[in-house]
Amino acid sequence: MRYSIGIGRKSGYYSRTLRSIQHLPMTTTPQDLNERGLKATLPRLRIIRLFETSRDCHMTAEDVYRRLKEDGLDIGLATIYRVLTQFEQAGLLLRHHFESDKAVYEINRGHHHDHIVCLHCGKVEEFFDAEIEKRQNEIAQEKNFEVVDHALYLYGYCATGDCAERRRAESDEG
Ligand SMILES: [Zn+2]
Ligand SMILES: [Zn+2]
Repeated sequence: MRYSIGIGRKSGYYSRTLRSIQHLPMTTTPQDLNERGLKATLPRLRIIRLFETSRDCHMTAEDVYRRLKEDGLDIGLATIYRVLTQFEQAGLLLRHHFESDKAVYEINRGHHHDHIVCLHCGKVEEFFDAEIEKRQNEIAQEKNFEVVDHALYLYGYCATGDCAERRRAESDEG
């Protein structure tokens, strides 16, 4: 298993938004968008709704594109990229860079958690461990750092037999 830890290496903007984190309602209304300086257009409403209602809550721009298309809504990828960036800047979404070059987004509910990612199929699980959080803070203190943010990603492989990519690879071989 590989792992990477980043402590306080995000941009100043990100740190500020993290400190003033706001607990959003479960359903983002057009008014919520307006209050953040974003007009409530159809693409924006549908994209935020998708994140709020989707079971798989960590999505790339391509995932969003595919899901909306399945629902009969053809919004161009360029628009989706732009909306996701706007939502991230407005604090509605969080952006992650897991072990690929594609950014992964999720709703910002203001609750800190960390992630474990399957390198085969991209499945993401969330976790929060008070002991790890405490140790990270202690280490930062020892190093004389004031922590403003951290991201802990564990990378591995789905081991429960439900890894879609591994099943495909195995059936290709045999
Ligand atoms: Zn998450
Ligand atoms: Zn997997």
